[in-house]
Amino acid sequence: MASASASSSPATGPCRRPITDAVTASPAFAPDSRLVAAVRPSPNHGERQGGARPDALVLHYTGMADGPSALRRLCDPAAEVSSHYLVEEDGAVLQLVPEARRAWHAGREPWAGRHDLNSASIGIEVVNGGHDFGLPPFPEAQVAALEALCRDILQRCGIAPARVLAHSDIAPSRKQDPGERFPWARLAAAGIGLWVPPSLDAAPADALSAEAVVALQSDLARFGYGIAPTGTHDAASRDVVAAFQRRHRPARVDGALDPGTRDTLARLMALRFGAGPEAAPARA
Ligand SMILES: [Zn+2]
Repeated sequence: MASASASSSPATGPCRRPITDAVTASPAFAPDSRLVAAVRPSPNHGERQGGARPDALVLHYTGMADGPSALRRLCDPAAEVSSHYLVEEDGAVLQLVPEARRAWHAGREPWAGRHDLNSASIGIEVVNGGHDFGLPPFPEAQVAALEALCRDILQRCGIAPARVLAHSDIAPSRKQDPGERFPWARLAAAGIGLWVPPSLDAAPADALSAEAVVALQSDLARFGYGIAPTGTHDAASRDVVAAFQRRHRPARVDGALDPGTRDTLARLMALRFGAGPEAAPARA
């Protein structure tokens, strides 16, 4: 696998590497982005399966007390987790794993029908305490650095805005990161991820027919979420809707198929796939 993928892209990672003078004193590998302040090699990576090239970007928060704790864990062989990049609260960007390698950040759940997102993605961990630490805000310097890094990766790797994912999108029953305070709207304004102004209509969900629930679940599946069109809004279905809300309607995250959630989904479907019969407004 390694030689096959190397021969198709000689002497570079999976993405175009810029001419850079940002190499640190004695890095174990050359950084892929000119925005990297330092390389802190993590041993936690492997081959991208099938020589896959990254076509998705997955964003995380670290969910730990501080940056040094997160860095230690991401470099600890016993933890068996890593990401390609870590963005500190002051905006410093560390690279832990070369983009050519498969970092261990996204788990095994599917997105858009594909499992093993680790082989198909680049992962960024953003230092932030997350839900366990009261959802602290993301400092401006950190957001600015993250925005620049994401733009750089999307451009070099040719990743589409629709393929910028939250960890919670991929693992809705298991993960909440990067959380409902993450600056998705701002990033989307810079071409990073999809966003429409969310509908805040949080009136109690009216009784939906099973057919209507199937249609909504089918839309969510078409958007990429790992959800089966069962027609029953059960616990797994609510987890997916909560993940959708956390990402696209963060003012109210409760898993309910309320009118605002349905409207926000319908407009995102239209943005992503174009208006048409398949992207019709939310059914009642
Ligand atoms: Zn995560």
